[in-house]
Formats: sequence, C-alpha cells, structure tokens
Amino acid sequence: MSHRAVVIGAGVAGLLAAAALSRAEPTMQVHLLEQDELTEGPADRRGVPQGRHAHLLMAGGLAAMESLLPVSVRDRLLVAGAHEIALGNGMLALTPDSGWFHRWQGDSPRMITCTRALLEWVLRQILRDCHPHVRLHRATVDGLLGDARQVRGVRVGGGTTGHRLGPELEADLVIDASGRGSGSLSWLAGLGITGIEERKLDSGLTNATRIYRVPEGAESFPLTLIQANPYDGRPGRSAMVLPIEGNRWMVSAGGTRGGEPPADPEGFLQYVLSLPHPIVGHLIRGAHALTDVVVSRGRSTSNTRRYFEKSPHWPERFIPLGDALATFNPAYGQGMSVAALGAQVLADELRGGLTSPGLSRRVLRGAAGHVDMAWSAAVGMDVLFPGVTGGEPALADRLAAWYTRRLTRAATGSYDAASALWDVTSLTAPPTRVLHPKALLAALNGPLLPPTTEPPLQPSERAILDRLAKSRTAPEASQGRRTR
Ligand SMILES: Cc1cc2nc3c(=O)[nH]c(=O)nc-3n(C[C@H](O)[C@H](O)[C@H](O)COP(=O)(O)OP(=O)(O)OC[C@H]3O[C@@H](n4cnc5c(N)ncnc54)[C@H](O)[C@@H]3O)c2cc1C
Repeated sequence: MSHRAVVIGAGVAGLLAAAALSRAEPTMQVHLLEQDELTEGPADRRGVPQGRHAHLLMAGGLAAMESLLPVSVRDRLLVAGAHEIALGNGMLALTPDSGWFHRWQGDSPRMITCTRALLEWVLRQILRDCHPHVRLHRATVDGLLGDARQVRGVRVGGGTTGHRLGPELEADLVIDASGRGSGSLSWLAGLGITGIEERKLDSGLTNATRIYRVPEGAESFPLTLIQANPYDGRPGRSAMVLPIEGNRWMVSAGGTRGGEPPADPEGFLQYVLSLPHPIVGHLIRGAHALTDVVVSRGRSTSNTRRYFEKSPHWPERFIPLGDALATFNPAYGQGMSVAALGAQVLADELRGGLTSPGLSRRVLRGAAGHVDMAWSAAVGMDVLFPGVTGGEPALADRLAAWYTRRLTRAATGSYDAASALWDVTSLTAPPTRVLHPKALLAALNGPLLPPTTEPPLQPSERAILDRLAKSRTAPEASQGRRTR
C-alpha cells in the first residue's frame, strides 16, 4: 500500500519537501496544502509578503534544488530571464569600512537573481510536470492530529473554500513548511508537547524595495551592493541594485533600527544617495520606476530559531522545515538555501523508509546543522547593531566579528580571503572554511592590493554610470504603478 504525506505550505520549503517525498516513493500521495490561491505564472501573493523584496539564490541552495529535482532549476530560471552572477567579478560591493572588493577573473561561486515569484513558479512547474502524485489543494491547516508520540495527520481549518479534503486529513508523515508564521508551537502544545526553546534576535531591519526598468544601455551593469556597517555603533544602512527577469532592476534599501529607509519615492532616492557611496542613487535617479516603494513588515526580518531538535519529547512523523524551523536576517540571503538544504536532508533520510522510527529526529538534527551555518553568520553580525533586541554581543561574538572584519578587509584585495568568504556566503562550505590556513594567513597579512574608494568599473561601465549619474530625476507622475 502506498503511503500518504501532507506538506503544509507551498513556498520554497514545501515545494522542495514535496519533491523529496515524491522522489523517495513515486506512488506516494503527497498532499500539498496551501492557504493562498496559486495562479498560473509568477505572481506576488499574500502568504509570502517577503516575495516583493530581493531574493538571492546562493550556490549551495541551488545545488540542493538541482539534486532534488529531475530537471535543472538553473536552466529553467535562466530561460525565464533570471541572471547568473559570479561573486568574483559579476558584482560591485562596498564593504563596511575597507573600500570596494576587487573583481577577480578566476572561478567563483555563482548566484541566481530573479523575483521570488519567478523562482516559485519554476519550482511549481517542475513539480507539476515531474511529480504527478503531488496534489496541490487550497486549504489552511490549523492543527495536528495524533498525540505526543505520533502525529497522524492535520486538521484543515474552516474559512478556506474549494478543497475537498474534509476537516481532517490523515497522513503517514506531516511536513510543516508554513513559513515564519508557522503555528507549530501551538499545534504541538495541543498534543501535549511544550517548552520548546526559541530564540529571537531582531536588529529591526526594514527593507524598502522598488522595481525599475533598466535604463537603456545599462543592461550589462553589474549587481551593485553597499553593505551595512555593524562596527561603528550606528544603525546599519545598505542598498542593492539587483538585475531580475524582464529587463528590470529590483532596488532594495535596508536599515536596522533607527536607520530605516522611507517609503516615499523622494525619501527612498535620498536615502540611497546618502549611503557611504551614492552609486545606487546615481544608477536609479533617472530610471523609470515600475512600482511604488514596498516596505517590509515589522519583525518579518528577525532571526528566529526554534530548537525542535533539542526537545526531550518529539512525536514521530512530524517535521518542520524552512522558515518554520528558523529565519534569518534577509540581508545575508540564506533562507531559501537553508530551506533547500533541509529538504535535501529529508530526501537523504527517506532512504531508510518513510515510517522508520526516529526519522523526524534525524531530519531535524541534520537540518539543524545547515541552520547553524546561516544562524551564526546572521546573528554574529546583527548582535552588533544598536537597538538589537534578544541578545548582546558576547566575547565570542566580538572575536568572530573582529576576525570577519579582518578577513573582509583582506578579501578586498586577496583572492584566498575572498574565496573563503564566497564559499561561506554561498553555503557551499561550513563556517570553519574561513579558518583554512590560506584564509587565516590572508586575514593576518591584510589585502595585497591598496583599498579603493571608487567602484572597480570597466571603462564601458564607468561610461554608463557617468551618463546615468547626470540624469535628471524621473518625474513621479509619469511612472507606472504596476508590479510587473
Ligand atoms: C525581506 C526579505 C528578503 C529575503 N531575501 C532573501 C534572499 O535574498 N535569499 C534567501 O535565500 N532568502 C531570503 N529571504 C528568506 C526567504 O523568504 C525564506 O527563507 C523562504 O521563503 C522560506 O521558505 P518557506 O517555504 O519556509 O516559507 P514561505 O516562503 O514563507 O512559505 C510558507 C508558505 O506556507 C503557506 N502557509 C502558511 N501558513 C499556512 C497554513 N496554516 N496552511 C496552509 N498554508 C500555509 C504560506 O501561504 C506560504 O505559501 C528573505 C526574507 C525576507 C523577509
């Protein structure tokens, strides 16, 4: 008899978990329950409000997706207009206090840039084409069936219409991929499991994002990033110009508590012009805006971690993954990759059988290893910003920050230091990669090239920037208000 699994939420984690389940047992019925109505084609939606902001897909996350799906996510995304950016020479990045990163010709990890809506749409299409036993239902889950020893299924809430599931859906395995707002703590409490340790660390980061048409002739201009400074005791302020599908730039500004970017167009422009380098403002000053400025909701950017793997009691057959497990300050671009790596752990563990005792614990422990990697990077920096809630920098945080600062400074002009940072940022290597002897030596010696106060532009890129910097501010009245 074939098994039945339920996945709660059809975001990145849910889609990939469904793929892992279906791949493990191709005849298994996998019910993917999603509260939102999912339309044909890429679209923003209520259940994923963060989807309107920049979403970088790191190499480690992409590799996990590729391993889970029978066709190449990368190829599908590139055909649909996504961009592939080499960290070594495809971007301009200003460090907090050591000038611009050098651009290296050697090999470096690549990341994918596109809208979150396109990424999800491509994953949904692959799932639909390759895993016919995965059924998508519009339904909201509001509880678990079972007891403290074993989960038996889910309760499907009232208020959602159109599904034919009934109020209870029995399953051999339940995956919670319902994201940052997951009800798993209260659902588990309903089964008698309480006291799960939770940690929150919130720098108060607010993201403000606006989409522009790429100015004519600027199509090849590199991704541009001004990093926030966690070292000077002031609120962090950052910005990024990200190429996305449809010949558009997604421009995202981010400020921690006390340094939040404004939502009005003129304020948004002035904010990015006032950063330690005005390049982002110069690029967009005369560009045609296609949307309003969208601002992230309070608390949606905090680092939150639920230590399910440490709970003394845990029911069989229930596994939270993705943001339901842990969320990170999005400035580090890691959440989707951690979700993908968690689904990969699920796929690996399913080799032992869907109902094998201890499966949930093993997956939680394996996924926690990937969470650790992203968590230490995000929290280690966030804890330094003023007004952060949920923690103060301990001696270990200060030591790690001291070393990261030294390594970053070295990385502006040392390939060995830069490649260590790329590997950790891409989630292709554990945080200990930065302690590799070559990276250590580079951090001690400092950069081999002098620091630069101006971005390392090729002559053609310099000409584009000079031209755009002289543009007159585009009149707001002539700008559209569409999201695409
Ligand atoms: C501003 C911002 C920018 C970000 N930028 C990046 C980035 O650059 N790179 C990166 O890797 N990550 C980024 N992230 C993080 C990324 O968005 C998440 O890590 C990722 O979406 C996690 O996917 P998920 O599937 O776990 O959750 P989600 O994507 O939130 O999906 C959860 C799904 O569950 C559904 N759902 C919720 N409750 C229920 C229920 N009870 N019943 C049924 N369905 C339900 C929701 O509708 C939704 O579809 C960013 C986050 C924010 C806030």
